[in-house]
Amino acid sequence: MSSVLVVGAGLGGVRTAQTLRRLGHRGPVTLLGAEPSLPYDRPPLSKAGLAGERPPVWLATSPELSAAGIVLHTGVTVLSLSPTTVTTSSGSFSYDQLVIATGAEPRRLPVPQPPHGVHVLRTLADATRLRQVLAAGSRLVVVGAGVLGCEVAATARSLGVEVTLVEADTAPMRRLLGAGLGERLAAVHRAQGVDVRCGSGVTAIRGDSAVTGVELADGTVVPADNVVVAIGAVPRTDWLRDSGLTLADGVVCDESLRAAPNVWAVGDVCRWTGTDGVSRRSEHWTNAGNQAEAVAAAIVSGRPTPYESVPWMWSDQYHLKITCLGDPADGDDVRVTPLDDGDRLKAVFSRAGIVSAVAGFSAGGAVLRLRGALGKPLTEVAA
Ligand SMILES: Cc1cc2nc3c(=O)[nH]c(=O)nc-3n(C[C@H](O)[C@H](O)[C@H](O)COP(=O)(O)OP(=O)(O)OC[C@H]3O[C@@H](n4cnc5c(N)ncnc54)[C@H](O)[C@@H]3O)c2cc1C
Repeated sequence: MSSVLVVGAGLGGVRTAQTLRRLGHRGPVTLLGAEPSLPYDRPPLSKAGLAGERPPVWLATSPELSAAGIVLHTGVTVLSLSPTTVTTSSGSFSYDQLVIATGAEPRRLPVPQPPHGVHVLRTLADATRLRQVLAAGSRLVVVGAGVLGCEVAATARSLGVEVTLVEADTAPMRRLLGAGLGERLAAVHRAQGVDVRCGSGVTAIRGDSAVTGVELADGTVVPADNVVVAIGAVPRTDWLRDSGLTLADGVVCDESLRAAPNVWAVGDVCRWTGTDGVSRRSEHWTNAGNQAEAVAAAIVSGRPTPYESVPWMWSDQYHLKITCLGDPADGDDVRVTPLDDGDRLKAVFSRAGIVSAVAGFSAGGAVLRLRGALGKPLTEVAA
């Protein structure tokens, strides 16, 4: 009966432990998490959780973990890894199989900034701190209009905050949705009262002890009481520096998510080679859960198999649920179909005439119905 040690108690880590038990793993399962709380779900932290409309969504309660025979140690930071043990802030833990699920941390803005009023959003503690300063009428600058920045802007607007959304790229979420849908999204934010400024780099955050404004590359200063920096995340691999594992913007794994014969990685921290030979890393909820289930199945069966899954993500902004299946960035053409007189739409992305992705604004059903179109000629979809 081999022992499995899971480092990181977020979605990927918890789902790995739960799936091991569901599939009948009988050996010890131990979960180590740096955060002090029970494991919780991150997506609400930028949506209803940030708006104060719902309490934390726990991924597992203590009784559920005990009943499953999963030993959780919270507030334990893993510091280093050797071939059979990890060293932590609270002693050493040995393992037969190790699953790395340490996620990612917010990228910091490398410009001068005051000590107070600059926020990032990754943890429950971050969300609680940010919620406390989002008072109606206060001025917030969100730096970065990716998924996280757009969601924070939308939630802050719902609270009556004056929001400026600053993005270096040409449109919000352009890397994910392409320029066309990104520009439509910019229009949605503007209609909700957000001052959207694309093509703008940030050169400094002004203020001595607290934020007073954000200085843009063209010299403009946008007045602000608070700033949220949402410019992406960096995989948490610092503790693996001397482990001998290959690190390159994530833990480098093979097709079956294996980094070494008895070491696996799942979720935001995992960089794996797909069956198409392309190396990728994903920062989406569905991927973390799917990878966790794949690794647990491989450990239980002893038969690693290539991880295959179609990328799927969603984002809630105002009245819209944005969904995306596949990778629009692979496309060279997009066909957009409005679904009503408002903002609802579906979009089919293709590359060389072959459907590569489907996205929708409040069109989840239409997007899912097009799942079978991925990889097929665009002409068949249009018919
Ligand atoms: C605010 C927010 C909103 C999001 N919304 C969406 C959404 O709408 N749709 C979507 O598809 N995705 C969304 N995501 C992304 C999704 O939540 C992540 O892809 C998912 O949480 C990744 O899970 P993970 O287990 O890989 O990493 P994480 O959830 O980050 O968990 C990693 C855990 O490991 C712990 N850890 C790190 N280092 C150590 C160490 N050395 N020792 C011990 N523990 C350690 C961390 O403290 C953390 O608890 C959102 C993310 C955030 C932050």
